[in-house]
Amino acid sequence: MKFKIKCPICGTEFEGSTFDDCPYCDWEFEYDDYTGQEDEPNETNPVTYNQAKALVSKGLNIWGEPLPKK
Ligand SMILES: [Zn+2]
Repeated sequence: MKFKIKCPICGTEFEGSTFDDCPYCDWEFEYDDYTGQEDEPNETNPVTYNQAKALVSKGLNIWGEPLPKK
């Protein structure tokens, strides 16, 4: 089932389902992204929530590559 997702990292809205990647910053979603474990390493992404936010604020995706143009 597809539903509207708002990326918790960069704020991009897109249609997807759990475990989809954000098309902009490449963050991969899990149900427990919202449980307050912002500094915990997670299994689906190479960086933590807070590290991903810092990267996006510098214009990089979660892999440290330049973000695509919106
Ligand atoms: Zn994103």
